[in-house]
Amino acid sequence: MTLNEKEILELFKKTGALLNGHFLLTSGRHSGVYFQCAKVLQFPEYAEKLCSIIAEEFKDIKIDTVIAPAIGGIVVGQEVARLLNKRSIFAEREDKKLKLRRGFSLEAGEKVLVCEDVVTTGGSVFEVIDIVKNAGAEVVGVGFIVDRSNGAIQFGYPQVSTVKMNVVSYLPEDCPLCKEGTPAVKPGSRKV
Ligand code: ZN
Repeated sequence: MTLNEKEILELFKKTGALLNGHFLLTSGRHSGVYFQCAKVLQFPEYAEKLCSIIAEEFKDIKIDTVIAPAIGGIVVGQEVARLLNKRSIFAEREDKKLKLRRGFSLEAGEKVLVCEDVVTTGGSVFEVIDIVKNAGAEVVGVGFIVDRSNGAIQFGYPQVSTVKMNVVSYLPEDCPLCKEGTPAVKPGSRKV
């Protein structure tokens, strides 16, 4: 049975992927919510449940290969590929640019599904789309676990996310949680 959005959020909370508190994000902004997708994907059973939503969406179209950007996307790409019984490869950063390494390659005309864990600005996914296009292969869709853009990012291909999340963040001087007097913590810097 496919999980609904509420059940997915429950799964995130249960595994500590979704934390409530007062957090200092790497951007320097503050937020009452912190999300770390790896915390839910560390459990193969949950990775399968989430990735099956993506696999289900693309099961009737022709796919040769699933590709994902390292590191976060690898688990998603691998699991979606396993469910669809397709080849799975990933692109990784070298000199700040995503590239195919380890002997991975794409052939002209190959049909490729792009997978990712979390999309915020979509930067890594757009880079992977370029890798596919530059190889003369064809992007047939994009699947990811969490859409943090709340639907704002559109890749120009059929796309699916398992859950949309509108994460509110604040400049430190505007942060209502700071006004409540609790200090902002860096996620992962202490046991929650
Ligand atoms: Zn704050």
